[in-house]
Amino acid sequence: MAERSNSFCADLHCHSTVSDGLLTPDTVARRAKERGVTLWSLTDHDELAGQKLAKQTAQEIGLDYLGGVEISVTWAGKTVHIVGLGIDAENAVLAEGLRVTRSGRSERARRIGERLADLGMPGAFEGAASLAGNPELISRTHFGRYLHQAKFVPNVQTAFDRYLHDGGPGHEPMRWAALDQAITWISHAGGVAVIAHPGRYEFTQTQFDAFFAAFKELGGKGIEVITGSHHPGQYQTYAGVARQYGFLASCGSDFHGPGEGRYDLGSLPPLPSDLTPVWDVLS
Ligand code: AMP
Ligand code: MN
Ligand code: MN
Ligand code: MN
Repeated sequence: MAERSNSFCADLHCHSTVSDGLLTPDTVARRAKERGVTLWSLTDHDELAGQKLAKQTAQEIGLDYLGGVEISVTWAGKTVHIVGLGIDAENAVLAEGLRVTRSGRSERARRIGERLADLGMPGAFEGAASLAGNPELISRTHFGRYLHQAKFVPNVQTAFDRYLHDGGPGHEPMRWAALDQAITWISHAGGVAVIAHPGRYEFTQTQFDAFFAAFKELGGKGIEVITGSHHPGQYQTYAGVARQYGFLASCGSDFHGPGEGRYDLGSLPPLPSDLTPVWDVLS
């Protein structure tokens, strides 16, 4: 990997059309490079199909690359996301685990479509499916985009706030992978498991403590401190968690597409300098 300089900029969490992003993996790579990213990872939800093109394009344009994935996990009845960084995208154990994790999505999408039809918004399954670049990966994001395009809501965020949020009238509960499975698959693939956007989880303090302890006990190593899914006020909170639990720190925009979300690729501040960044053990 290239020498780190002052212009070093890591973005280790984002999405492509292989999951719920709007741009293809090679387009995301070029955008990352143009926006000053020097160490990049594409972390599509539950899917490795974009990894080859992401890595190949990164190599062509001189961008350091870490194999990545964001795994959907059910822990204590709630959904959390675990990012795997530095993974071998050819690993059979990880690929099979993700195949099983994806397998319930089509049926779930049909049920979400039925719920939305019952709420007076017909055609949502077909609409979401037509917006999904990967038929195995219809996500709530595609439903949100459809509801916006069909003018049922003024913007995608409102679709989540009114219907698609966890426990919302258009949400369909899912049992995703178990926490120990996700960490084991990532480890098998030679990667490091990282808690994605902890600030998004609606846990009590007791649940947070139990979650961080369980993650560490199971071999999890890292936590996202600076992420586009955190408010800036949360950066210090999760820097404190990294210090308390001895977690490696990670950072990423969680970019899904131009005009979506608060942060574009490469636009976040650096990690607090006293934390050990996750790439220290991956390069
Ligand atoms: P799914 O994996 O199908 O449950 O979809 C989860 C995806 O929906 C996340 O990765 C985000 O991209 C998006 N999402 C989840 N919650 C929200 C929210 N409150 N507002 C906007 N997007 C959200
Ligand atoms: Mn997403
Ligand atoms: Mn996520
Ligand atoms: Mn994400």
